[in-house]
Amino acid sequence: MNLFANVNCILMLLPNFDQSMRQFYFTPGPSQLYFTVEEHIKSALKENIPSISHRSDSFKDIFRSTSLALRQLLNLPQNYHILFTASATEVWERCIQNMVQFESCHFVNGAFSKRFASISAHLGRKATSIEAPHGEVVDIKSVLIPESCEMIAMTQNETSTGAAHTLDDVNKIRKGFPDQILALDVVSCAPYVNIDYSMVDTAYFSVQKCFGLPAGLGVWIVNDRCINKSEGLLNAGLSVGSYHSLPELILKAEKHQTPETPNVLGIYLLGKVAEDMLNKGLEMIRRETDYKAAVLYNAIEQNPILQPFVKKSVNRSKTTLVAATTIDSNHIIEKLGEKSMIIGSGYGNYKKEHIRIANFPTHPKEHVEFIADELIKIRD
Ligand SMILES: *Cc1c(COP(=O)(O)O)cnc(C)c1O
Repeated sequence: MNLFANVNCILMLLPNFDQSMRQFYFTPGPSQLYFTVEEHIKSALKENIPSISHRSDSFKDIFRSTSLALRQLLNLPQNYHILFTASATEVWERCIQNMVQFESCHFVNGAFSKRFASISAHLGRKATSIEAPHGEVVDIKSVLIPESCEMIAMTQNETSTGAAHTLDDVNKIRKGFPDQILALDVVSCAPYVNIDYSMVDTAYFSVQKCFGLPAGLGVWIVNDRCINKSEGLLNAGLSVGSYHSLPELILKAEKHQTPETPNVLGIYLLGKVAEDMLNKGLEMIRRETDYKAAVLYNAIEQNPILQPFVKKSVNRSKTTLVAATTIDSNHIIEKLGEKSMIIGSGYGNYKKEHIRIANFPTHPKEHVEFIADELIKIRD
């Protein structure tokens, strides 16, 4: 009798326990899932999406509708193609293999842009890095780009430092270097940032940042110029890789397929979330993001133990905010963790000296305001 009562009691408590332990991820990717993802996963399981063949018509429909939703959301011009990869890191290697024979040039505003340059060097290309001081972006007015380089790589939003290029910077580089392939990393800012994709030749992102999806899928956007370059290398007898060569990806994408067995569930979920964002409206998402970023930066500036790591306000990321701390960042992370808010530590060497807070479309403004209130109160 007693035992039965106890078990019952525990069972009754379980949902409450679960609720009270719920944590909210403001880490800069992976992060909190977009708020509709749970429902979409349930529907996907009901529809057996993870079991369907990637050569079936059902998969082609998923491919087609995800591409269409993304195309609308990002406002992609007609001659731009959407391809699926394992992640953004893969796209770095594919960009070099397919579009650079001799030389690439990299604007380095943090660890991610630096890694792209190192991949180019690893593949035996001449990789010129133009490095900005930490917490800044490369000053494009004084930049010296070798005319001989075939690709210029920019990272619009550096997740490691929170230093973001203005779109004006990107446009100026485009105008100054019309012959080079311009590659733009939009991993932690798309679809928030309002990019005119016709200004770049290729762009890419992973889905675990602003799209709020489980990791394991990258999106690679290319125009015809990228394809021509890759085909040119191939026709000259050079290798453009075997697993995901651009011509092979394009050939399959035309049939709404991928060369390998892809992350079917991920592609399905991305399409659903892109549709949800379209229904909500990107204008609204952008307005909310701006508001939440202002609330957080304001809190960071009010507390003497914190300050924005990026000094120039025009270059402060709105989606991945980085604050320098005078105390061990762990202390701040733990304080917020006690309130179920999980924020990120600094990147690499800045682990203890910075906190990083994601401000993605899924993060509700009430939670952001709560974090801001807590940040203001924290003392050493
Ligand atoms: C996260 C991130 C990447 C790498 O993405 P993966 O999904 O780990 O391959 C590249 N660039 C930036 C700016 C990022 O934030």
